[in-house]
Formats: sequence, structure tokens, C-alpha cells
Amino acid sequence: MTILPKLFLLQLKKVSECQIYLPNTKEYKNKVQVYNRAIKNFPLAVVEPYNKNDVVALVRLANKYRVRFCVKGGGHNTAGSSVQTGTLVIDMSKFKRIGINPLEKRVIVEAGVLNNELDDACEPYQLALPLGTCNSVGVVGSTLGGGVGFLSRKFGLVIDNVIKFEIVTGQGKLLNVTKENHSDLFWGLRGAGAGHYGVVISIDYKLWKIPQKVYGGTISWSLSAGKKVLTHYFNVMKEADTSTFLYAYAGPSESGQASVSVFGICLQSKEKSKALFDSFLALAKPIEKNIGFRSYYELQSAHYNEGLAIYWKNKFVKGHPIELVDCIVNAMSECPENMGGIMLDPMGGAIKNLTKNETAFIHRENDYILSCTGIYSNDYVPKKIKQWVNKSMQEFGGYCQSTSYQNYEDQEASDHNQYFSHHSARLSKLKKKYDPHNLIYGILSKSK
Ligand SMILES: Cc1cc2nc3c(=O)[nH]c(=O)nc-3n(C[C@H](O)[C@H](O)[C@H](O)COP(=O)(O)OP(=O)(O)OC[C@H]3O[C@@H](n4cnc5c(N)ncnc54)[C@H](O)[C@@H]3O)c2cc1C
Repeated sequence: MTILPKLFLLQLKKVSECQIYLPNTKEYKNKVQVYNRAIKNFPLAVVEPYNKNDVVALVRLANKYRVRFCVKGGGHNTAGSSVQTGTLVIDMSKFKRIGINPLEKRVIVEAGVLNNELDDACEPYQLALPLGTCNSVGVVGSTLGGGVGFLSRKFGLVIDNVIKFEIVTGQGKLLNVTKENHSDLFWGLRGAGAGHYGVVISIDYKLWKIPQKVYGGTISWSLSAGKKVLTHYFNVMKEADTSTFLYAYAGPSESGQASVSVFGICLQSKEKSKALFDSFLALAKPIEKNIGFRSYYELQSAHYNEGLAIYWKNKFVKGHPIELVDCIVNAMSECPENMGGIMLDPMGGAIKNLTKNETAFIHRENDYILSCTGIYSNDYVPKKIKQWVNKSMQEFGGYCQSTSYQNYEDQEASDHNQYFSHHSARLSKLKKKYDPHNLIYGILSKSK
């Protein structure tokens, strides 16, 4: 399908309040613009529903006319899956309700809410979900692929804190999905929910009480200290308890020079947490340092530059392979124009409390996500930077698993096994049940 059937549009206007943005308009261009500026997709149109009845009407009409669609939340999927060419985009940005029940430590979050909006709403009660640190990521979108953040080693992935999904399935049925109701879908939505089984309207989560202040921040060194810092990093994370969550990053510093950093939080006492960060400070003189005892919400608002083109590859890592240290430092020293970064997201801790088959998220036995990213301040990533990313990932390959994190979706990969591994067949069966005409665009529908 290259254009929307006229009858579909006419009927949509009759049965719903949806706002429709057609190609060749300024609004359409803004609506299909996503975080990754390298994405240049051309959906059939963008439709903005205002309430769940709109979504039901929209999905039923899409079934009638066999219109393929995708769902857009915060627009941070780096492969552009939420604005896929040839599909109708259902833009959930009008769904902004956050309903907190501080006594029961629960919150209902609608599909257009962003990380910083939920953190802001939770702050007065000192409550939190283990959300990622990028303010403008969609809460629901990131939940559907797992959701890793500063609090994940303590409180699990975001999906581990879901009580209920409200969803309009691929056939247009409004369902409440819990452990007890539609348990097959409850399993699949926790890890493989992005763009597969329906349009999630809202999620009901349990929240966690967090201390008024936590110790954390960022320390950066020049790349020449990289070997010492990363070796210490692996040794620290190998022994760390669930209170410690530290990222390691090799990439350009604020001033643009090649550097290595650790950033994260420690939920232990002030003294113990400070001692942990001090052990890093003792390694070499840092070039930048911003650590202290402060509000968790302040630490959450890490700064991410907007308007960049991104080329992102990732693999999971099991264990704490110290051999990776040299590979990372060498790769970073060869990065063209310092326009790339290599990052380790720690896993472990409470993420391992569930087994890999209890949810669709199959990667729980791993200890890190290793990403290599080309970043360019334009609307494309130059070939030489892409080549650097691919060469680096090849060099890391011996220490990595074959699996990748679905939330860091690879624009070029077309094999769903790398995200879902031996859950793939079960997930495809579930897709046939809840989206029998394969109308919703997600990783499973683009795969070979
Ligand atoms: C700068 C940056 C930092 C990040 N940091 C982290 C991090 O710390 N931790 C982490 O876990 N991830 C992180 N991510 C990854 C992010 O969580 C995923 O890209 C996530 O899918 C983004 O959700 P979104 O709603 O913003 O994106 P979108 O592109 O709008 O959606 C992402 C996917 O979810 C689907 N989807 C969205 N809403 C719905 C819905 N209501 N119903 C059904 N399907 C839906 C879309 O179709 C698409 O496939 C980061 C990404 C970026 C770019």
C-alpha cells in the first residue's frame, strides 16, 4: 500500500476524534521526525487519537481495510520502527495521564508519557520506577522491550514492575492484561511488546520508595587512563551488590577529547558509596568530575544532545571479561573524529531474580549490554564511522553473546532471533493470535 484508501480516511473521521496528518504538510514532517536524525521514513499518514475509543475505532478500521500500522510513543527507537515507511503511524502523544497512588505505591501511566514526566510526578513522594536516564524516552515504549535504568540492579527491569497492561489488540479488542488475565499476552508484552500485539493504552506499575539522597554522578579521564579505569570497573561490578549501578563509557568528553568515564549511583550509606567512587578517583587524575550526595531525580536528568544521527550496534556480554578492556581502549583510539562511543550498561542484581523464561525478555543471565555507537551532528552517519562501529563490534565479538537488546534495535538487522532467541517461535504464535493479519509493524514482522 502506498497511499491510504480514501474510504478509510472518510470513515475514520466519522467514527473517531483522531487528528490526521497527511504527507506533504509541515505538521506531518514534524510528526515523522524521530530522535535519530538518520531516519528518513515516509509513513502513509500520522494519526493522533485522543482516547481509547479512538484507538479501538482506528484499529478496527485498519483491519477492515488491511492497513498496516505502527505505534509511536517517545520516538526513541533508533531503527525508526515507530514511523515505518508504508504504514500508518498511531501517535500516542496525547495520552499523558499519570495516576499515582502513593499509599499503595502504584502508578498508571498512559502511552504518551516520557521518562522525565513520570520522574517529576514521582518526586514529591520519593517513589520511582527503574527508568532509563534519557528524559525524552517514552515510558511505555521502553517498558515493552525490558527497560534498564539506575535502579534496575536493585528493583529489576521496568517490566518486572508491571501489574497490568491496558491494550487494544491487533484486532481492535480492548483488554486488561495481567498475570491472571490473558497470561500469554502478559508474558509476551514483557520484553517483546513493542509493535507486536496491539496498541498499549496504559500500564499499571508498582513503585519503589527511594532515599532522599543517593551518591552518584560522573567521573571522566583521558583515554590514556582507560585501561586502569575499565579494569577497575570490571572488578568493581564483579563484586558489586544490588545497590551499585555503574555505566562505563569510552567516547568524546564534554570538551571533545577521547575519554573514558564511569557514571551511575550507589544506594549504600554515604560513606560506603563515597568510598566506591573514591576508589575510581584514586586511579588517575580525572579530566571531569561531577559526583556527590544528591537527589536521585537530579541524577536521572542526564544530558542527551538532541538532533543527532545515530548508528547503534549492541551485544550482550556474560561474565566480566577483562580482555575486553584492551579491545575497548584500542577501538576508541581509532574512532574517526571522535564521533563514536562504546558503552557498557550493567545487568545482574535483581534482573536475575526472574528466570529467562518467566518473561519474553530472554537476556537475564547476562552481565552487560555492550554498545558501539556512531554519532554525527547531521542527518546521516558517514560511512567511515559506520565502518568503525562494525569493525569494533567484530573485535569485541569473541567476548559477546549472539544476542542483542531489543530496546537498542539495530536498523540493519532483520533476524528477530538476535532479540528473542528461543522465545521467537512462541512470540510468533502469539502474534498470530492477537494480530492475525500481521498489521502491526515490529521486529517480528520485519524479520526473514
Ligand atoms: C538516547 C537514548 C537513550 C536511551 N536510554 C535507555 C536506557 O537507559 N534504558 C533503556 O532500557 N532503553 C534506553 N533507550 C532505548 C529506549 O528505551 C527504546 O528505544 C524505547 O523503545 C523507546 O521508546 P519510545 O516510546 O521513546 O520510542 P518509539 O520509537 O516511539 O517506540 C519504540 C518501540 O515501541 C513501540 N511502541 C511505542 N509505544 C507503543 C505502544 N503504546 N503500544 C505498542 N507499541 C508501542 C514502537 O512501535 C516501537 O517499536 C535509549 C534510547 C535512546 C535513543
